[in-house]
Amino acid sequence: MKQTLKNKTAIVIGAGIAGLAVAIRLRKMNYDVLVFETNDTAGGKASEYQWQQFRFDCGPSLFTLPALVDELWTLCHKNPRSYFEYETLKIVTKYFYENNLTIDSYSSPQLFAQEVKKKLYIEERIVLNFLSQQEKTYNKIAPVFLENAIHQWGKIFRWKMFFPMLHLMQFKFLKSLNSINQNYFKHPALVRLFNRYGTYNGSNPYKMPSLFNIISHLEHNVGAYLPSNGIHAIPKAMHQLAVEEGVQFLFQQRVETIIQSNKNATAVFANGQTYSADVVVSNMDVQLTYEKLLPNFPAPKKYLNNEISTSALIFQWAVGLSSPSLEVHNILFAEDYQQEFESLFTKKKYYHDPSIYIYISSKIVANDAPTGKENWFVMINAPHLTKPDSPIDTAAMRTIVLNKIQQRLDIDLAKYIEHEHVIEPADIASNTNSYLGSLYGASSNSLMSAFWRHPNFSPIKNLYFCGGTVHPGGGIPLCLLSAKITAGLIEENHSL
Ligand SMILES: Cc1cc2nc3c(=O)[nH]c(=O)nc-3n(C[C@H](O)[C@H](O)[C@H](O)COP(=O)(O)OP(=O)(O)OC[C@H]3O[C@@H](n4cnc5c(N)ncnc54)[C@H](O)[C@@H]3O)c2cc1C
Repeated sequence: MKQTLKNKTAIVIGAGIAGLAVAIRLRKMNYDVLVFETNDTAGGKASEYQWQQFRFDCGPSLFTLPALVDELWTLCHKNPRSYFEYETLKIVTKYFYENNLTIDSYSSPQLFAQEVKKKLYIEERIVLNFLSQQEKTYNKIAPVFLENAIHQWGKIFRWKMFFPMLHLMQFKFLKSLNSINQNYFKHPALVRLFNRYGTYNGSNPYKMPSLFNIISHLEHNVGAYLPSNGIHAIPKAMHQLAVEEGVQFLFQQRVETIIQSNKNATAVFANGQTYSADVVVSNMDVQLTYEKLLPNFPAPKKYLNNEISTSALIFQWAVGLSSPSLEVHNILFAEDYQQEFESLFTKKKYYHDPSIYIYISSKIVANDAPTGKENWFVMINAPHLTKPDSPIDTAAMRTIVLNKIQQRLDIDLAKYIEHEHVIEPADIASNTNSYLGSLYGASSNSLMSAFWRHPNFSPIKNLYFCGGTVHPGGGIPLCLLSAKITAGLIEENHSL
C-alpha cells in the first residue's frame, strides 16, 4: 500500500518582520506553517497609520541592507521588484545643531567627507578612513557574529572566531563608542553625529562598545533606502509572498500558552483551542514569551537580565505646509547629548532638551500626503516603562518639541497641524506586546549584552525564537538575519 508522507508543521507566534521571514523560510522547507497574530495586519512594529490622505509609518523609518529582504523572493524564485521597490537616499539624514550649524549626511562617503570638510574644516581622509575601517570590521565580524547562532559554542567557537576577535581587539572594541569617536574625530559636532549610531538599537553611546560603529558603514558604504510606498510596504509585501507560498495566517488571535511537557514544546493554546505543531517559533518579545506563555517554566535569567533599550514618544502630525529646508530624515540634536542618555537610562526620565527626529516620507512617497502638505513623524527617545507606574509627560514634551522646532527650524508648526496621532511608550508596549515598551529588547550597553542576547533556540526542545529581542538584535536587517538563523537551526535539528 502506498503511504503519503505528511508535511511537518510549524507554528509562528507573531507576524512581525522576523515572524514573516521565518514563516516563508519554513514553508520553503516544506513545513505547513500557521502564523498567529494578535493584530489585524502583519508588520508588528513596522505598522502604519492612515488619516484621510495622510499615511504614516509607525515604527522603523530607516531601511538598510535591502538585499536581505530581496533574498526571501529569490528563495521563492520570484522577482522582489514585482512586489515592492525602493529608492536610494542621497542624503541619509540632515543634522541641525545649535548655532545654525547643519550637516547633510550624504550616503556617498566622498560627498559626506566633503560636507564635513566644508562645515567643520576636518580633512576628508579622516572620515573616509574611518568608514573604510568600519567596512573592514563589518566584513570580518558579520559572517561570524551576525549570521550564526553564536551561542552554539561547540560549533562556532573554533578558529572561525579567532581572527574576527583579534581584529576587534586591535580596534579597542571594548572601549565605549563615544570614547573611540571622541579620540578619533575630536570635533564635538562630528562626535555627536557618529555617537548617534548607538541609538539605532536603543542603546547608550557613552556605554555601548565601539563595535557598533559598524552601523555607519551600512549607511554610508552600503546605503540607506526608502521603499516607494513607505516602510510598511516591506511587511505588506512579505505577507503577500507568504500567503502565495501557502503560509496560513490567523489574525486577531493571541497565543495564550505554549504547551510543553518534559521540556518539549508540542502545541500552543489560542482562542479556546489547542494547535499542535512539530516546531513552535516565537516572534513575540522573548521576555514576555517566558512571562506570559510559559509562566511555570524557569526563564534563562542569564540572557534576560540585561538593561532594556529605550522606548519612544512619537507625534504623527498631518501638517498643512511643505518644508524645503528639511530632508526625509532629520535630527535636531540635544546640546548635551551625554546628559540626554544619562536622563533616559539612569534617571529613567525624558530629557528636557531632547534630540528630535523628524521623518517625512511624503518627500519621496507622493501618496503619503496631499500636494503641498506633509506627514511629519516626530520622535524623541523615551525611557522604557518602569513598573508599576511610569510617569507620562506627553503634554509637556509636546510643548518642548514644538518650541525646539520653532527655534531650530524657524517653523511655527503648531499653526499647521491639521491632525495629531500620538504613540506613547505604553502604546508600543500594548500594540506589539513589547516588554516595557522597549524598541529593541535588551540594550547593548555593555559588552555582555552586545554578545549575550537570548539565542534563537531555547531550553525547551522544538521551541525557537526570532526577532528584534533575540540574537543577533533589533532593526529590520538583524530581524531578517535572526529568521534566517532560526530556520537554519530548525533545518539542522529537524530534517524531514
Ligand atoms: C518607533 C520605532 C522606530 C524604529 N526605527 C527603526 C529604524 O529606523 N530602522 C530599523 O531597522 N528598525 C527600527 N525599529 C526596530 C524595528 O521596528 C524592529 O526591530 C522590528 O520591526 C521588530 O520586528 P520583530 O520581527 O522582532 O517583531 P515585532 O515587530 O516586535 O512584532 C511582533 C509581533 O508579534 C505579535 N504578537 C506578540 N505576542 C503575540 C501573541 N501572544 N500571539 C500572537 N501574536 C503576538 C505582535 O502583535 C507583533 O505583531 C524601530 C522600532 C520602533 C518601535
